[in-house]
Amino acid sequence: TTLLQFKNVSKQYGNSTVALSDVNFSVNEGELVSIIGPSGAGKSTLLRCINRLIDATSGEIIFDGADMLKINKKHDLRALRTKIGMIFQNYNLVERLSVFENVLHGRLGYKSALVGALGLYNENEKKQAIKIIQSLGLNEQVYKRCDQLSGGQKQRVGIARALVQEPRVLLADEPIASLDPNSSKVIMDHLKNICTTLGITVLVNLHQLDVALNYSDRIIGISGGRVVYDGLPANLTDED
Ligand code: ADP
Ligand code: ADP
Repeated sequence: TTLLQFKNVSKQYGNSTVALSDVNFSVNEGELVSIIGPSGAGKSTLLRCINRLIDATSGEIIFDGADMLKINKKHDLRALRTKIGMIFQNYNLVERLSVFENVLHGRLGYKSALVGALGLYNENEKKQAIKIIQSLGLNEQVYKRCDQLSGGQKQRVGIARALVQEPRVLLADEPIASLDPNSSKVIMDHLKNICTTLGITVLVNLHQLDVALNYSDRIIGISGGRVVYDGLPANLTDED
């Protein structure tokens, strides 16, 4: 079944820059789809339009049956956003807080300093957060401050923070662009595993074709804001 569909989506920044131009594609529940293309192709804009970190200029973005662009109540938008986990190239963690506090922040959305200081979480939320942190191999780091972690560990915290939301889809915007090859493999293995074992749909922006070929069920290629390829990794030839 279809979880996400772009219909004629365009995004223009200001009066001149067309970042997305008439983009159409759909993503099935449980797929791992890589979006590849050169820098400036529109990959980041595309992902950010889904949860409305950026507003598309025109078209329809159907997620879980709702047209994201037509949602205008704050409450409705927030409810849909909890089903969309986001992972960033630069992690977007609160560096001076612990792994545990950062992950709880994903769940609760409270200002994270308050979460820690006031204990604004119940035993169940705590257990759930720790379970997810451990599932990402961070058993030793639960109460460490994030500024003491390696890049690969930070990105695993980013994944944990997204997972506690119990999302339907994970959007990963260049999650391995700041990491060395070993850490990159660990992160991609986790994303693949999350997809196959938890059934969570994953959309990941990559600029490394070899990684996309290794891990994806499907590849969407974009260039100059347009979809130029949409198909199986195996069918991607040199001409594409
Ligand atoms: P990618 O993620 O593939 O590198 P982006 O989505 O970041 O591509 O950018 C697509 C195009 O939109 C680029 O030309 C970029 O310069 C432009 N762009 C991105 N963000 C903004 C912005 N906030 N304001 C104006 N132009 C932007
Ligand atoms: P602030 O303290 O500025 O309100 P938040 O804690 O809300 O920041 O957000 C932290 C980071 O996560 C920011 O970079 C923001 O862009 C991003 N973010 C916030 N909400 C969402 C969301 N629903 N989906 C994806 N990213 C989000």
